[in-house]
Amino acid sequence: MVESKEQKKYTIEDLPGVGEATAEKLRENGYDDVMTIAVASPKDLSDVAGIAEGNASKIIAAARKYADVGNFETGEEILERRREVKKLTTGSKNLDNLLGGGFETQSITEFFGEFGSGKTQIMHQAAVNATMPVENGGFDSDVLIIDTENTFRPERIIQMSKFRGLDPDKVLKRIHVARAYNSHHQILLAERASELAKEFPIKLLIVDSLTSHFRSEYMGRGSLAERQQLLNRHMHDLLKFGTIYNAVITVTNQVSARPDVFFGDPTAPIGGNVVGHTATFRIYLRKSKGGKRIARLIDSPYLPEGETVIQISEDGVIDGV
Ligand code: ADP
Ligand code: MG
Repeated sequence: MVESKEQKKYTIEDLPGVGEATAEKLRENGYDDVMTIAVASPKDLSDVAGIAEGNASKIIAAARKYADVGNFETGEEILERRREVKKLTTGSKNLDNLLGGGFETQSITEFFGEFGSGKTQIMHQAAVNATMPVENGGFDSDVLIIDTENTFRPERIIQMSKFRGLDPDKVLKRIHVARAYNSHHQILLAERASELAKEFPIKLLIVDSLTSHFRSEYMGRGSLAERQQLLNRHMHDLLKFGTIYNAVITVTNQVSARPDVFFGDPTAPIGGNVVGHTATFRIYLRKSKGGKRIARLIDSPYLPEGETVIQISEDGVIDGV
């Protein structure tokens, strides 16, 4: 965790310029501790608290001092934070190896591929795995799924749990699913994720699919800038959650079926640079014979590009042979 010890000593009322009324508005909107305010943007804080952006900046600056974030970090400090990074097994040794040991906390891992390529199956498997004991590659944690396409299936969780020797009822109790009805709702759910994380130990946050609402609501070139701006904010909210709670973030993305509108390449992921630059690991999935899928890692900051074969079966995600 990057939470500093100092954070615990302060409440938001300790921040200069935060009176009772402001504190109440901040709390109502999920800004209920110094750390959350320290990493907020002045615009967002000013919007929710109904204060001038200048005042919001001052409050954020004070929160950063109290929470001890936002200053330059030494390489040693970054190494310290990187030491906190944990890996969650994907269910497949092949895929774990491709990712340098599994899904990494404090990062966003994106799967993109065409319809039926197995993105949602991989998300279900990740959810089951997160509830597993640490010695089995899990986090012994709860999971939050933001489901935008109504594709969460408890029946699949039961099948996958049984295969891993887990009690399906216990696993289901630890998976919290929020249906997102449109892109604004999706953004709001991600912003509110920290509320759930205060009640349950959430070490995995899934957004399946990251881009479907954005894609259908913002059609055409005229709305592209607005879409990208909202997606950018959403991605950064997700990354912030991953950093604060030392959690894994996994998201799914489609490929462009309308090359005229998007990037000219029908296998290019949606979301352009915004998604590409914020996702730490991007994996391109494609179908192969007999339930096999080829997973290709692209654009990793420190791992070589490469591909591997996984299998999607009734038991879940396993190695392909
Ligand atoms: P995407 O999210 O990429 O659109 P999915 O993750 O929903 O795709 O993958 C759907 C595919 O997963 C199906 O076509 C099938 O191959 C496989 N699948 C889903 N459920 C099962 C199951 N119970 N047993 C075996 N394979 C399954
Ligand atoms: Mg899907």
